[in-house]
Amino acid sequence: MANESRKMVVLGAGASIGSKRYPINSSLDQLRDRMPSAENFFYDLFKLNKTENHNERFLNFLGLTYEALYDVIVRAWNINKGNNDFDPNGWRGVNIEEVMTFFDVGSNMFDQDSQEGKLYRQAQKSLLDFMFPLIPMICEGQHCEYLLRVFFGLEPKDTVISYNWDTIAEYTLAKAKANQIRNYAKLMRSDKIEPRMYRNTGLLLKLHGSFNWMVCKNPECPSFDTIKPPFQKNRYKLIGLNESYTCKDCGSNNLRPLIVPPVSNKMIHKDEFLKNQWLIAREKLLDTNELIFIGYSFPPTDYYSEWLFRQIYFIENRNDIKITVVNPQYGKRGSAVTKRYDTIFNDFEIESYKTLKDFAERN
Ligand SMILES: [Zn+2]
Repeated sequence: MANESRKMVVLGAGASIGSKRYPINSSLDQLRDRMPSAENFFYDLFKLNKTENHNERFLNFLGLTYEALYDVIVRAWNINKGNNDFDPNGWRGVNIEEVMTFFDVGSNMFDQDSQEGKLYRQAQKSLLDFMFPLIPMICEGQHCEYLLRVFFGLEPKDTVISYNWDTIAEYTLAKAKANQIRNYAKLMRSDKIEPRMYRNTGLLLKLHGSFNWMVCKNPECPSFDTIKPPFQKNRYKLIGLNESYTCKDCGSNNLRPLIVPPVSNKMIHKDEFLKNQWLIAREKLLDTNELIFIGYSFPPTDYYSEWLFRQIYFIENRNDIKITVVNPQYGKRGSAVTKRYDTIFNDFEIESYKTLKDFAERN
């Protein structure tokens, strides 16, 4: 193993935000050429680009579709400061992960049947209904031009790990015709997973689930509660959003994507499929000699991720492991991102790039 070079590319939220989405083939793409960030999720989502006929403007997607949810967030984040008008600037800094956490805590603080408990659970459901299918719509069929260059450099046994629910990584791997996407399809199709068997297989792992991992919630369905592989039957082509609304086994529309919100992180070990994804990632890490983190910040609540990457100290020949961090916050004096990386990888030299573009264009 020692002479063979193996990479692991880890994609965090910043990889999607920094992505150069392509192709731009509809007016919707033109209005929105960036993925929303977690930090300014709603603000980014409401903001529409300048076009030939319009100046930059804001559209209140949330208030138009889930008014009650909109009202609760406006209230709890004191967004309008008592005013009733839609104020896009008030939504700056309203972080999607903090909003999800707020509703998660609330829904656990009250009895299931109480008025408050119902309200919080309804808000949680509305928020997921709002994100799905909106986010998958934004990235349907889209790949990232910068990431594509990175993926062209992948060797057959290299690994791509994504923490993102969107499908930018999948479509970009497919565009690069990388074997990682085919092996990911095989993994999604296998009935029984033995993590050790994947040690020499180059593949994509989505550690927080995905907007295209559809699960049928109809208890009568033969495939009740199991993830449907997001690929067309007997093929390696990803299914489109419109094919993911109806269950092929029972015909119901009772499908939900399997995604792990940040606070439910602690639940990962309870889902056999997800747990195996993490164990495969660990197997792959043991043979890695180049680790590349793109747009990942090591949030302190991501306990599983810290556990995973601390496995690096169980590798005997770890001296020649190269670590690269692509993150505008890394290297800033006193930034939380710098501290996290330097604490976890205190035995390593870290090379860094500010943007995905810089990294893609290196050499
Ligand atoms: Zn079904």
